Amino acid sequence: MEHNTAAARDESRQPSAHDLEVLSRQLGRPVRDVVEIPARCICGNPLVAATAPRLSNGTPFPTTFYLTHPVITSAVSRLEAAGVMNEMNDQLAADDDLSAAYRSAHDAYLEARNAIGERSGIGPVPEIDGISAGGMPTRVKCLHVLVGHSLAAGPGVNPLGDESLDRIKEWWTADRCYCEGAWDTSGEAPSRDLSRHGPQGLPDIVGRPAPIRKSAATAEAPE
Ligand SMILES: [Zn+2]
Repeated sequence: MEHNTAAARDESRQPSAHDLEVLSRQLGRPVRDVVEIPARCICGNPLVAATAPRLSNGTPFPTTFYLTHPVITSAVSRLEAAGVMNEMNDQLAADDDLSAAYRSAHDAYLEARNAIGERSGIGPVPEIDGISAGGMPTRVKCLHVLVGHSLAAGPGVNPLGDESLDRIKEWWTADRCYCEGAWDTSGEAPSRDLSRHGPQGLPDIVGRPAPIRKSAATAEAPE
C-alpha cells in the first residue's frame, strides 16, 4: 500500500467495515474500540490494530498496538517459547546503548498513544500516563506487544521489536502476503461492527472489552 501523502496515510489508518471484519476473523472474536489500523500487509489486510487509550466503557487501556495477524502472532509465540524474552532481558542488563534505545521506544510508544487518543477524539488519559506495555521501559514481558509497536512505528523505533521481526523472518517478512488460509473466511464473522468510530463510542456491549491475549493481560498489568 502506497503512503505518498499525509491524506493517504490518514485514509489507510481508518478502519473500514471490512478491516473490522478481518480483525474479528483473525482473532476469532469480536473486536471493539479499534480506532486505527497502524500496519497492513502488502495486500491491505490489517497486521496490527490500535485500540483506544480509553475503552468505550471508560476503562483506561495502555496496550495500544495489538498484533492481529495469525501468522505473525504464532511466529512470535515461537520466539517466546524458545526463551527469547530471557535473552533480551539479559541483553538489556548488559548493554547501556540498548537499554537507552529501549527507553526511547517506551517514550515513542507513549507519544504515539497520545497522538491516537487525540486523533480519535478521546483526549488525554491521565490514569495511564507513563505506563506503556510489554514490559517497557526496562523489561521484556511480551514480544507480541514489541512487534506490534515495531510494525506500527516502522524500523528504528523499538530495537527489541525490530530484533524480534528479524528473528521471525523464516515465517513472516513484510514484503510478502501470508494471508491466504491464515484465518477462517467462511461463515459469519464473529462481529461486524463493535468498534468505535468516533468520540461518541457505543453503548456497552456484553462481552470482552477488547482483544487481550491472556498471557499479555497478566504480563502488562501496571505495577
Ligand atoms: Zn495479505
